[in-house]
Amino acid sequence: MSGENIKDITAANAHYSASYAEGGLPLPPKRKLAIVTCMDARLLPAKALGLYEGDAHVIRNAGGRAKDALRSIIISQQLLGTEEVIIIHHTDCGMLTFTNPQLHDILQQRFHGHDVKDIDFLTFQDLEQSVRDDVEFLRGSEVISPHIRISGWVYEVETGTIRRVSTAN
Ligand SMILES: [Zn+2]
Repeated sequence: MSGENIKDITAANAHYSASYAEGGLPLPPKRKLAIVTCMDARLLPAKALGLYEGDAHVIRNAGGRAKDALRSIIISQQLLGTEEVIIIHHTDCGMLTFTNPQLHDILQQRFHGHDVKDIDFLTFQDLEQSVRDDVEFLRGSEVISPHIRISGWVYEVETGTIRRVSTAN
């Protein structure tokens, strides 16, 4: 229903800001950490990982793909001093359910031939492999310093549990 979301978030924010006491936090994340994860609504990184205001960057996109997050990762590391990247993909991810050609076909029809073939939606067929691929992508990138720690994880939406898939170092 139109307006319901706005009403709800402004009410929730009034409650939050009434006792907010973190106005003096510095810009760089205290834990020198950047998390790259999916935009999936079932995953709440702060809640699931015990993060508080000022702790970490949380970079989200469809699938939690590192390639899509690279612009933000560079800014996180080069301008804001983060030294660790944690990549978290998750079970039952929508990105497991279609392929680039399938989505291209759907969008071509929906947008009446508007060319979307240039967009790589970074879908994947193997969850754990997608995590390893993203760790390797960052490790192999010339714009990621060798001293940056990188690890890859899977979050299980069924249990709320994270498990480690890959360690680059
Ligand atoms: Zn997802």
